[in-house]
Amino acid sequence: MMYAQIIVDIAHSAVDQLYTYRIPEGMSLLSGMRVRVPFGSGKKEGYVLGVTSECSLAPERVKNVIAPLEDYPALLPSLVELAKEIAGSTHCPLAEALRLMLPAEMRGARVRVKTETVATLTVSGVELESAIASCGRAHKRRLLLQLLSDGQTYPVSGLSELVSDARTGLNDLERRGLVRLEERELLRSPYPDKLEQIPDPVLTAEQQQAMEELMPALSCGNGAFLLHGVTGSGKTEVFIRAVRECLKQGKGAIVLVPEIVLTPQMVTWFRQRFGDTAAVMHSRLSAGERYDEWRRIRRGDARLVIGARSAVFAPVERLGLIVVDEEHEQSYQSEHFPQYDAREIALSRARREKAVVILASATPSILTFARMERGDYMLLELPHRVNSRPLPEVSVVDMREELRLGNKGIFSQTLGEQLENCFRAGHQAMLFLNRRGYAQFVNCRACGQAIRCENCDVSMTFHESDNTLRCHWCGARIPMPEHCPSCGSTYIRTCGIGTQRVEQEIRRIWPDVGVLRMDVDTTARKDDLLNMLTAFREHKAQVLVGTQMIAKGLDFPEVTVVGAVLADTTLNVPDYRAPERTFQLLTQVAGRAGRAQHAGHVVIQTYLPEHYAIRAAAAQDYRAFYRQEFSRRRSGLYPPFTMMARLLCSAPEAETAEEASRELLARLDDLRSNRPDLKRRILFLRQDDAPLKRLRGLCRAQVLVKLLEHPDSREIISYMQELAEQSWPCEVLLEINPASLA
Ligand code: ADP
Ligand code: ZN
Ligand code: ZN
Repeated sequence: MMYAQIIVDIAHSAVDQLYTYRIPEGMSLLSGMRVRVPFGSGKKEGYVLGVTSECSLAPERVKNVIAPLEDYPALLPSLVELAKEIAGSTHCPLAEALRLMLPAEMRGARVRVKTETVATLTVSGVELESAIASCGRAHKRRLLLQLLSDGQTYPVSGLSELVSDARTGLNDLERRGLVRLEERELLRSPYPDKLEQIPDPVLTAEQQQAMEELMPALSCGNGAFLLHGVTGSGKTEVFIRAVRECLKQGKGAIVLVPEIVLTPQMVTWFRQRFGDTAAVMHSRLSAGERYDEWRRIRRGDARLVIGARSAVFAPVERLGLIVVDEEHEQSYQSEHFPQYDAREIALSRARREKAVVILASATPSILTFARMERGDYMLLELPHRVNSRPLPEVSVVDMREELRLGNKGIFSQTLGEQLENCFRAGHQAMLFLNRRGYAQFVNCRACGQAIRCENCDVSMTFHESDNTLRCHWCGARIPMPEHCPSCGSTYIRTCGIGTQRVEQEIRRIWPDVGVLRMDVDTTARKDDLLNMLTAFREHKAQVLVGTQMIAKGLDFPEVTVVGAVLADTTLNVPDYRAPERTFQLLTQVAGRAGRAQHAGHVVIQTYLPEHYAIRAAAAQDYRAFYRQEFSRRRSGLYPPFTMMARLLCSAPEAETAEEASRELLARLDDLRSNRPDLKRRILFLRQDDAPLKRLRGLCRAQVLVKLLEHPDSREIISYMQELAEQSWPCEVLLEINPASLA
């Protein structure tokens, strides 16, 4: 008798364990298969994690597996291991981590294999001729036999387009034993028609050099690389070649890109280079397409996967390479529970499966670069643009000076002139603004300084309800000052220009110029974004105004002028990563200009032209930025030197959330008093409302803990996790270094 060890697909800690089921006579089950099993009073889906011949339970207590859900293991062994690791580190039930490994709609059979009926002739030669001859006046049958006479298999739907009521005729032919009708699987394809394959370009010397360093790693299947190249240096081509090498060795590859970059353009490039062996996975696929792409990968028909964050879990066997393009992007961190970072998953998966990892970016995250310096990653550099196209010329415009000269408009004189010339020459321009969130910072128009928290050196945020400024990082609160704390001027005010303002201003100054505005309001529907990008590419507008979401990885050859309308909006986001984001954004923005034959010009407008993030971005000098930012992080005790942990309490009533957060604070306070060894690692511990006091109908309160990055701190985090898992009258969520502390 054989037994299966099964995880039932219920994401609850109470049932987070292996259950033993009997495998009935005649059923063959393998580890990794999905099954239906009796559970409680009903039936549930489950995952087979092991098959044994032993069972220590009394036979009457063991139930039978009802049926397998597929005839193959949906879960690869390595992905089961990965799920266990995620469950362990995020404290989620294993069932929940296993769900990451499958298209969501596979569970509960919300998506099915699509089939079509196909017809094949079973006779040929003389037999066929006599069959055709015997048709007499049955023209339909004769026509069908003639259509099928080449011996190929044809879908009935296709035949129906040529012959009216083909199905009846085919049924008739089947009865006579002349035709075989059968069901065949039909793959729903997200791609338009077949693409012409294009040849590989000749690599530049720098790309060649990078490949030579990659080759040994690709052959022996280990190594992690940071591919750092300026914008337009041809990083994509390097990893396309690395993928090609992998496929040549019979191994598979995964290329992760931020969702936003996963445009049809990107998919087309890969399809043109790799044809049907490339599969895509992103949120715009229909459930059927996603399922079919997943199965093409699972069966090994597709050996290369291009996808957003979750594609890191694609069921690629014999994995040789994982590429994380634009590795600095925040979108690699999932917001949903279980929270994971696709970069960390990529590294862990690659280690386990003996694959190479390439993290690629023009502006690597501080953490990644620091790890490279520590020796975790090998550095591959592409310091020049392809075909020695020059980097665009960047001007930094001091908006304080503009004000002194009496220009109170949105556009500085420089930007105005650049736009004028660009429009007159018939070229295109892009204008960027930071996404305008709920947060409003306050700055001084005379000296340019934003008002910052004394504890944290993070911009404070204006709260209109009580006319205060608050620090979203540590919770400090001060009344809105009347004078600038730096220079005493009274010319201080909340700052922020919307995309709409910029659009209006362009229409006012250049009434004949076509404008496209791209922000959360104009791209609410799924296809809006792509439609706008296509319209811009087709030159239906001369200027694209957008939030930073359009700064990433786009390649518009006709764009010669790029403007950052107000760099300060990013710089003053209430987050310790603000300089990093600003540098990344401005560098990416600048990288959009002058990518084809025309030279590009970039204008950065700011009240703080002397800020190191802006100066380094203008000079496209990553290392200069990195050095300054790294030492600021160390002296200011920011990550990666410290960790911020938050327990977030949400409830319909404010008191419920607040009481819970006070109780959590008390427990952590006890820990601090009872454990002097841990106390040293806690830099601060504070309870307050969350900066976003109400969100989606829930009131939110929080406990913030800043910890030194030290092994001891892990104990504190585990304790916080235990606290979060206890039963509270409200929702309690633990976040570690959250992307935003809203
Ligand atoms: P990055 O990702 O580094 O910003 P891209 O990969 O977008 O740069 O490359 C910039 C441009 O150079 C693209 O249009 C690409 O097709 C082109 N390119 C890259 N490598 C080569 C090469 N070896 N020969 C010719 N063109 C290339
Ligand atoms: Zn001032
Ligand atoms: Zn603060």
